[in-house]
Amino acid sequence: MNLNTFNALCLPPGATLHEALARLDATAQGILLVTDAQERLLRTVTDGDLRRAALAGVSNEAPLSALPAHPPHTVGLQASQRDVLALMDAQRIDHVPVVDAAGHVVDLVTRRELSQRVYLSSPHLGEDEVALVQEAFTSNWIAPLGPHVDAFERELAARVGVQHAAATSSGTAALHLGLRLLGVGPGDVVLCSSLTFVASANPIKQLGATPVFIDSEPQSWNLSPQALAVALAALQAEGITPKAAVVVNLYGQSAEMDEIVPLLERYGVPMLEDAAESLGATYRDRPSGSFGKLAVFSFNGNKIITTSGGGMLVSNDATLIEHARKLSTQAREPARHYEHIEDGYNYRLSNVLAGIGRGQLRVLEQRVQSRREVFAQYRDALSGVPGLRWMAEPEGHQSTRWLSAFVLAGGDGESPQARRDALLDFLERHNVEARPVWKPMHLQPLYAACRYFLHAPGQDVSRALFEGGVCLPSGSNMSAAQRARVCELVAHGLELSWRSAA
Ligand SMILES: *Cc1c(COP(=O)(O)O)cnc(C)c1O
Repeated sequence: MNLNTFNALCLPPGATLHEALARLDATAQGILLVTDAQERLLRTVTDGDLRRAALAGVSNEAPLSALPAHPPHTVGLQASQRDVLALMDAQRIDHVPVVDAAGHVVDLVTRRELSQRVYLSSPHLGEDEVALVQEAFTSNWIAPLGPHVDAFERELAARVGVQHAAATSSGTAALHLGLRLLGVGPGDVVLCSSLTFVASANPIKQLGATPVFIDSEPQSWNLSPQALAVALAALQAEGITPKAAVVVNLYGQSAEMDEIVPLLERYGVPMLEDAAESLGATYRDRPSGSFGKLAVFSFNGNKIITTSGGGMLVSNDATLIEHARKLSTQAREPARHYEHIEDGYNYRLSNVLAGIGRGQLRVLEQRVQSRREVFAQYRDALSGVPGLRWMAEPEGHQSTRWLSAFVLAGGDGESPQARRDALLDFLERHNVEARPVWKPMHLQPLYAACRYFLHAPGQDVSRALFEGGVCLPSGSNMSAAQRARVCELVAHGLELSWRSAA
């Protein structure tokens, strides 16, 4: 419900029963809020209250204050969705007003909302997946490997404009393999974007190497070329050549490859492109994931297309991908018996899941379109809301808007983080799944001891994006009503955060 609808629910105690009936009818929420001149909630009025008053012979022209008193059940701004639901169940009510610290009634949660969750990014199947999986069953290719795996690899490679691809059980497995193939091992240094999901960094550590984290730049939120240049020079001065660089394409958008690729080449550092979030995006008309010596995609359940779980390692280097396939199937040597020289993994994607992936790939373009439309609707609907800056799509970029994300400004004595948390609490209370932007790796206890290079002296961009950043529900299967609901709630929630700060 937006602020206007909410305000229309509020009536003074002097309003008549007749006026209340008319207002209940017009607002159609099943409840009204009787408030005093200071916006304090005196009571709620439902259809039932008015029906009982009519049966008791109370005049239609009597004021609401003539109704038998009953104190309202409310929650504070800290209440969780679970608190609200518990109160609804205990009191057998379907509406719970929310009251701020000053005692003003500022919001209303309805039971209907609590039964219809809006997810951040949920799987969205196309029309072909079931038939393709069926094919795997009827041809008895349930075992890992099989024709769908080969076809999925070919089709994805073609879509991304690279020559070779190896399907894996997850994006994380592909990252681990990729780093192994680049020779990363104990004692090595590997550069990595700080603003990312932890899976970008963990395989570095798991291979015994040391990650060095690089800040974001403020426009695209991706790896800062400026910080990268400083890091490469500083490490070189210490006699260190990083073994690889994990460059992340965040939230459906490529990093600034025109600057990053030549920089890494100059220092002889191969790039492992973490394109887990950017399948379908382009940079200067080239598909995201085609820039690294190796690149990784993910088909986890929340990604733009999904196999429920899965990943892909791609490259133009046939030898690397051949080796990846070997390592991902326990590194068996060509012999009749099981002969092993290298240390391998069980990282291959199954034929059944590859069938899902093929179907999903056929609808990728539509998924990109839908996510971009979700973003455009948010941007337009919230254009009048102050203190909100969307993740930009700089010239030359075509983002998929895998997640629609913005960063909040602070102000009026309120920090960006406090405003972000207030908004996330508000959305959660209304059963909308939103998230903070990734917490950067250099701020994670797991990586606290690692080095970090800032975008500029004294300017920690990724930290600021984390502290004020919000990702909104962005699924390609969101209904128009769900999108509109999120827009109204974000506007309402932010309005409250400014008001409480003032
Ligand atoms: C999802 C994701 C991964 C990991 O992919 P999984 O398939 O979940 O293992 C790696 N990096 C980034 C940036 C991701 O968003």
